[in-house]
Amino acid sequence: PFDVLVVGGGPAGASAAIYAARKGIRTGIVAERFGGQVQDTLSIENFISTKKTEGPKLVASLEEHVRDYEVDIMKSQKVQSLEKKDRFELTLENGATLTSKSVILATGARWRNVGVPGEEEFRNNGVAYCPHCDGPLFEGKDTAVIGGGNSGVEAAIDLAGIVNHVYLLEFLPELKADEVLQKKLHSLDNVTVITNAKTTEITGDNKVNGLSYQDRVTDEEKHIPLEGVFVQIGLVPNTDWLDDSVEKTRMGEIVVNQHGQSSMPGLFAAGDCTNSPYKQIIISMGSGATASLGAFDYLIRAQEP
Ligand code: FAD
Repeated sequence: PFDVLVVGGGPAGASAAIYAARKGIRTGIVAERFGGQVQDTLSIENFISTKKTEGPKLVASLEEHVRDYEVDIMKSQKVQSLEKKDRFELTLENGATLTSKSVILATGARWRNVGVPGEEEFRNNGVAYCPHCDGPLFEGKDTAVIGGGNSGVEAAIDLAGIVNHVYLLEFLPELKADEVLQKKLHSLDNVTVITNAKTTEITGDNKVNGLSYQDRVTDEEKHIPLEGVFVQIGLVPNTDWLDDSVEKTRMGEIVVNQHGQSSMPGLFAAGDCTNSPYKQIIISMGSGATASLGAFDYLIRAQEP
């Protein structure tokens, strides 16, 4: 069996695997798609110590770094279920079973899509999901934020300081964000809030040039010319395959303590699949290191079955 088995090959999983292998313990990493969300990222400008890089480039160096250690890498494999007996038993989609004394879940998350024409087509060409990451790309331009919950309103406030004008679109008759955020939002003079707005299309030629929506009260079709659209209707953690034996938040995020341990002893988690309040590459890497050191502490205290 493995001492530490990491599920997920994004920045959190890669970091966890390296930290475990450096302790000289038997380490494996199983990942459906090595690199995770970073694989889909065009330009990265907030990975501290590197002024600017690209997702696939960072993924290549992550893999090179992991391969520098004795880590059993199992790519293109999806974990389907997990069970704790004497040891952890993980079943893969292909039917195989892996056993390990401790497990680190680093399965990440995915942005919820609006699912309208233009969203896929213009992804990274005006359609964005992360204001911390891509906000500065829209400096001085007109942009929209879809979603009036906390993350949408936070994004609009954040962007208002960078871009020319922000249109915030909410499907429902009112915003769902916390009162203090709404107050702050309404105090900004370069933000227009549009409620009862059903986004119907993101328009463009080779990049975004506007957004169409339907006014749900009058049924009128409207179009706003702009250059960027931030979709902020939720981040879904990849944890649906885990059953209720592990504590999760209402949103499905795995609840971890300061050592990265979940409610189940020996089961750790890191990165975007956890209840960490901020979801970023550098934060995932830090939490991967934490979970790995937590798992090592657990192993040296555990009684051999
Ligand atoms: P992920 O990167 O999501 O990796 C999850 C891993 O788990 C993948 O390998 C996946 O295949 C695997 N996996 C999932 N389920 C299973 C399963 N059942 N079995 C096996 N493997 C599984 N952050 C920044 O800091 N700067 C940026 O500029 C930036 N830009 C971004 C741009 C885009 C378009 C996106 C989508 C995100 C961006 N982010 C950025 C956010 C950043 O990518 C994430 O915070 C980070 O990748 C999270 O790392 P993670 O390892 O927790 O999860």
